[in-house]
Amino acid sequence: MKGTEIIGNNFYFGGCDTVKLAKKYGTPLYVISEDYICERCKEVREDFLNKYENTRAVYAGKAFLTLEMCRIIEREGLGIDVVSGGEIYTVIKAGFPMEKVIFHGNNKTIDEIELAVKNNVGRIVVDNLYELDLLNSVAQAHGKKMKILFRITPGVDSHTHKYISTGQVDSKFGIPLKGNIINEAIKRAIDVSNVELMGFHFHVGSQLFDNSSHIKAVKTLVKLMNDMKEEVGFITKELNTGGGFGIYYVKGDTPKPLNYFTDAIMHTIQDECSKYGLSIPQVIIEPGRWIVGEAGITLYTIGSIKKIPGVRVYVGVDGGFPDNPRSALYDAKYEVVVANKMDKEKNNLVTIAGKCCESGDILRYDLKVPSLDTGDILVFKSTGAYHYSMASNYNKIPRPAVIMVKKGTDRLIVKRETYEDLLRNEL
Ligand SMILES: *Cc1c(COP(=O)(O)O)cnc(C)c1O
Repeated sequence: MKGTEIIGNNFYFGGCDTVKLAKKYGTPLYVISEDYICERCKEVREDFLNKYENTRAVYAGKAFLTLEMCRIIEREGLGIDVVSGGEIYTVIKAGFPMEKVIFHGNNKTIDEIELAVKNNVGRIVVDNLYELDLLNSVAQAHGKKMKILFRITPGVDSHTHKYISTGQVDSKFGIPLKGNIINEAIKRAIDVSNVELMGFHFHVGSQLFDNSSHIKAVKTLVKLMNDMKEEVGFITKELNTGGGFGIYYVKGDTPKPLNYFTDAIMHTIQDECSKYGLSIPQVIIEPGRWIVGEAGITLYTIGSIKKIPGVRVYVGVDGGFPDNPRSALYDAKYEVVVANKMDKEKNNLVTIAGKCCESGDILRYDLKVPSLDTGDILVFKSTGAYHYSMASNYNKIPRPAVIMVKKGTDRLIVKRETYEDLLRNEL
């Protein structure tokens, strides 16, 4: 894993000794490497934005969104996509340029739409006809014209966990390409006064190692561009191809460089557009996990060690389901190391258990480790995306702190929650 080193017996991340970080900030602790995020953003600029004209890249905020993350993404020159009023509020408070924000969601509420309209969110990706009318009337009430894309269900089955597969026909997301629904939607968008339809969006799924779903979806969408030009006279200016680029969690994962996806997307768009005689629209990508997933680790301290003779050794840590719901939700696997015993041989087999009152709160089965002691620090790798952002207070456990490391320096970006925080809204 990039940005990691072993010095003495200890595991270093972003130039920082993780054993010292655990002492300084307590555990569980999310540690995010700014250097790593910046490297990924640089790859986006060099291999996509600078390589192809008329392109844009937005970071999918739901992977990990804090004020400091917004500032980093702004400095790196990307936009941000948001999926809720809370995420819109976060980008506003960070002072993020709102014209570079894209608002998604399959059931945006009227309050969320109002917040987006009032704050001039750059693009609203409209999911359905109900939303089109709602948005138009809100925009009208505020005397604004909002630029929109339609989210299309491209009918592509991406081969990933069914909870993160989003492009198949039977999906809660987007407008299906069945019957005349999309023709009617486009006519309505052209008819009404307070939206301007710019083009289409799709997102086929997450954690993909293969570009075939993107290629298939792009072909479907360029055909749609051609059909809609012929049938309703609509010229597509923008095509947003979503995110979903996979990262490394465990052995067997085969992540690809960004350009494996983006070159395929761009070449397919160029080929298909020239086939139909269409001009090439602006192309947008929305990586989330790929930007921040491998940039994060979680530190835990080992407490109880329970040996059930002939059965299993359970090693209890001070976090679990509340800071990492992905283990229970997707049966997700992680690479794990013992931060203070990197030099020791791994001769023991253990199971890492979270501290929640749920049998399903197991962070890792059958892990090979050195001989463990209470107080050892465990590192779960690749926890930058969909961990802090998915964290809960189950069992009234306060959410961990988040720190940012950069070239050997560390700084707090989100404080650890207190018991008082847990009761803040209770009457
Ligand atoms: C979640 C999401 C993304 C980002 O997905 P990743 O797999 O994290 O890259 C992009 N676009 C939309 C619309 C999404 O819902």
